[in-house]
Order: sequence, then structure tokens, then C-alpha cells
Amino acid sequence: MSGVPELSVVIPMYNEEAVLPALVARLRPALDALGVSYEVVAVDDGSADGTASLVDDLRIEWPHLRLIRLRRNSGHQAALTAGLHRSRGGWVVSIDADLQDPPESIGDMLRLAREKNLDVVYGVRGDRATDTPFKRNTAGLYYRLMRRIVGPDLPSQAGDFRLVSRSVVDVLRRMPERVPVYRLLIPSLGFSSGSVSYTRERRAAGETKYPLRKMVALAWDSTADFTAAPLRLATWLGMAAFTASLVAMVFGLVVWANGTVIPGWTSLFLAVLLFAAVQLICLGLLGEYVARIYRTLQNRPAFHIGSDSADTSAAASAVPAQRTPATMP
Ligand code: UDP
Ligand code: MG
Repeated sequence: MSGVPELSVVIPMYNEEAVLPALVARLRPALDALGVSYEVVAVDDGSADGTASLVDDLRIEWPHLRLIRLRRNSGHQAALTAGLHRSRGGWVVSIDADLQDPPESIGDMLRLAREKNLDVVYGVRGDRATDTPFKRNTAGLYYRLMRRIVGPDLPSQAGDFRLVSRSVVDVLRRMPERVPVYRLLIPSLGFSSGSVSYTRERRAAGETKYPLRKMVALAWDSTADFTAAPLRLATWLGMAAFTASLVAMVFGLVVWANGTVIPGWTSLFLAVLLFAAVQLICLGLLGEYVARIYRTLQNRPAFHIGSDSADTSAAASAVPAQRTPATMP
């Protein structure tokens, strides 16, 4: 496709071959009905299944579809970054591949943004009844914590289904952060915003690509990116330990003055253990932030783009995109 489309739809995909046919069947009519020029930017996040080759096949039927391949799995937020940075549309929507966010809401977002002249429209999950209780509870905890850290402007229950204007994308592209947590960063920029509420549906096919490990990583990234409060834990623990040791000193002096002999070993041993643990925790916290400073200074790219069907449309027909075998050796 040539020229600048009015709308880009960015979809990070990691091993999503099972859901792709259903996604296209719902997304395409929804986008065609909008009557705007658009591109769909599928970012293949180093899938090990046939996601990339399937998207490539689908492009024959659907020329609006664009495939960006990352060289290896770099994570949801990194794939989102690649898609946002490379998108060309005047408006950019990000949406998951698994149809948990309804593509039909994209039209509502665009209308709202145009009518009210907004730069950001969040998709807010009004109903998460189809999520597992575990996911609902952990998500509830996450959004409560993040509202405390980032502030009350943060829309709660707004994930990565949102529409942003080109001005927002331009600001995001200039951010020095490697991989920001967009759901926190975008609200913190203070652009005019609105929201569209929707019902979170069940994943249409395939399995979640967010195991507990990645959920915990996202929560820690979110915390450490927006507050240095955990570092202050060291100060608080230090003060508590100091107070405790003052009390212990008084106790020790009183006992000494009374001439009672203290066996002492247990208490000494426990104190050494306790203070060693506290110090290690605080050192670890310091290390987390130092690591962030180091990574920022290194300024290494968070992802490497293997190919972009929009760059190589001439070459792509001559050299077909490399096929990934469906089964791992
Ligand atoms: N995803 C990705 N890279 C990853 C993990 C996930 O691009 O390393 C994509 C995935 O294909 C999906 C989106 O991120 O489009 C959200 O993942 P998922 O739906 O599995 O998360 P959940 O809804 O279970 O939190
Ligand atoms: Mg999902």
C-alpha cells in the first residue's frame, strides 16, 4: 500500500496462528465498514509457529495487511513499540490478536476521538466476567497499585487496547525509554483523552501468552519505571532497625546493671541473621535501579526488525519471507 493511511491498527502476535483466521474474519469487515484508509500492522514477535507465514499468505487476499517480523521473541510491550514506531497512520490503534478486545469498538474510538477532538481513547474493560478469577484479582490489584503510584488520572482497567493520535506517537517515539509500559506512560503524558467501554471476551483460540512470570515482570517494570519508592524501603527498614537496636541497648544495659548474665547467643544470632537479610534486600533493590540506569545508558534497541513487508514490497515478491517450520525440531 502506498501513501499515508488514516488509521493504523497495530497487533503484536506471538504464536497466534490458531486465532488468525478468526481475527481476520472479524477485523476486516469492521475496518472496511469505517470508510477510512487503513493499514493493519501485524508484528510477529519471533513466533515459533506458523504465524508469520500465515500472515504473509493472508496479505495476498488483504493488501492492507502489513507484516513486521522481529528477529526473536522480545515481549508484548517491545512488539507494541516496534509497531507504534513503524506505523504510518494519522490514528494508531493497538489491539491484541486474540479477539478479547472487540475490533468493532475501533470505530467507536475513532468517532469519539474525532467528535471531541481527543488525542487518546482508552478501551476500558467494563466487564471481565470471562477472565479467570485469578486474572481478575491480579489485574484488580495491579490497577489499584498503579493508581497509587501514577495518580488518579490513570484509567483503571485500561490495558493496551487504545487509540492514539499521530502527535502522541511522535512524542512516544522521542522517549528515551527502551520499552515503556504504555498503559502507564500514555496517561502520564496528559493528552486529552476519553474512553470507550467494552466487555472483555474470552480468548478466541490458542492459549494465553502471559504466564505468571510475564505478569510479575510487567508489574515490576510498571512499579520501577514510575517510582523510586522501593528504594526508600531501605531507609524505612534502617530506621526501624535502629529503633529496635536502641530498645535492645537499653534492655542490655538494664540487665547488665542488675548483674544478670544473659546467655545471649540466640538473640545475637537472630539479630545477625535479621540485619544481614535486611541489608541484602536493600542491596538488591539498589541493584534493580542501577541495572535500569545501566540499561538506559547502554541504549541498546529492545527489538530487531527482521523484515517489514512495507519496506520490501518490491523485493518481497522476488524473495519470499522465510518460512518458520510449524514444529520445533
Ligand atoms: N504477545 C506478544 N509477545 C509476547 C507475549 C504476548 O506479542 O511475548 C502478544 C499476544 O500475541 C497477544 C498480546 O500480546 O496479541 C496479549 O497476549 P495475551 O492475549 O496472551 O495476554 P492475556 O490477554 O492473556 O493477558
Ligand atoms: Mg489476551
